[in-house]
Amino acid sequence: MDDTQEIEPLGVTTASETGRSLSGGIALYIHIPFCETKCPYCDFNTYAGINHLIPSYMDALSNELRVWASALDHPRVNTVFLGGGTPSMLSPKQMDSLMSLIHTEFAVQTDAEISAEVNPDDVTLQRITGFREAGLNRIGMGVQSFFDPELQLLGRRHDVEQALKAFEAIQHAGITNISMDLMYGLPHQTIDSWKRNIEGVITAAPQHISAYALTLEPETPMAQHVAKGSLPEQDPDLAADMYEWTSTVLAKAGYHNYEISNWALPGRESKHNITYWHNLPYLGVGPGAHSFLGGYRFANGKSPVTYMAKVNAWGTAPVDLETLLRENPGYVEDIEPMDAQTEMADSLIMGLRLAKGIRNSDFRARFGLNLHEAYGDAIKETISLGLLKSNGMWPEATIQLTERGKLLANEVFVRFLGD
Ligand code: SF4
Repeated sequence: MDDTQEIEPLGVTTASETGRSLSGGIALYIHIPFCETKCPYCDFNTYAGINHLIPSYMDALSNELRVWASALDHPRVNTVFLGGGTPSMLSPKQMDSLMSLIHTEFAVQTDAEISAEVNPDDVTLQRITGFREAGLNRIGMGVQSFFDPELQLLGRRHDVEQALKAFEAIQHAGITNISMDLMYGLPHQTIDSWKRNIEGVITAAPQHISAYALTLEPETPMAQHVAKGSLPEQDPDLAADMYEWTSTVLAKAGYHNYEISNWALPGRESKHNITYWHNLPYLGVGPGAHSFLGGYRFANGKSPVTYMAKVNAWGTAPVDLETLLRENPGYVEDIEPMDAQTEMADSLIMGLRLAKGIRNSDFRARFGLNLHEAYGDAIKETISLGLLKSNGMWPEATIQLTERGKLLANEVFVRFLGD
């Protein structure tokens, strides 16, 4: 389509071909909702005290995977990501059974990135060796801090020494693609303690680093402590200083800030998360897991117990995606048909998180119109505010967040939502 062709009015079209088709394969997310203890800042859909349900949960998960594989005609899977919760609470045998089922039911790419999140206190050489033998090739470890008082504040069960030993064990188990997660902007955290964190992670030298600002949801115990005054308020200016310092120092250490909160050595970016940031199809299984498939967004209900009951009652008769969503025999909730306007806004907001930004020609190939035609006012305004920049010559130009835009990303995104 060229500039002179007519553009369909926004809001009346359905999802793009890219948003509907599974021919490029999917990313598969598997939710493991169990934790030994609930951290006081965490609002993820995870639960402590129900570990006895793990074996029956794994059966339900297998049933859900079978139903979806059949409904989607056993699609190609480019990446698998086990998140939670605490996937490292699974035994190597449970991991092996799960991965065997996935390989039977889906066309898993031979070079698929297969990741699991682990907590340092669960890591043993034997467990991670078992995970690697089951097919895992990437591990993300929730270190959160290289400073023991901060780990205590966060209610973590490990200390720094344990995290470093766990990192060694993961390496000895033969995993060569390891990510460490850190959190900044904590109550009581100072720029000096944060520098200690970054020095710690650079010394450990994982292939990938995620550093997220702590966001306190009001219902969490830590937010309530802040509200009562027993913990200090977070300081957004200090958090911004920490972020800027992090970017500078990690760049010097060879880590590329490929997404607002993620840094990687060359070639070690998270392929699974890049699927989300490119707004490409993914299937999420397990309670609370979200999916974007076949022109729909949908999510499973959150309760693990209801999930197991409903998913186990799903029939095995083959059905297609439309029938499954229409008749909804399982635990799928919040089904939202994707229209072109929503898909475009989602693609903009997620794509701008990436350092490479969004290329007009890619946007046009997917949606049939230029960025300026869809978002001219928002682009002009955010460029004039110094939050966005445009590189190259149109129509091949790219739009990217500036350094200031990375700090104020929500200010940018809200303007694209309202355009
Ligand atoms: S271990 Fe992770 S998922 Fe579990 S409660 Fe703590 S932060 Fe949440």
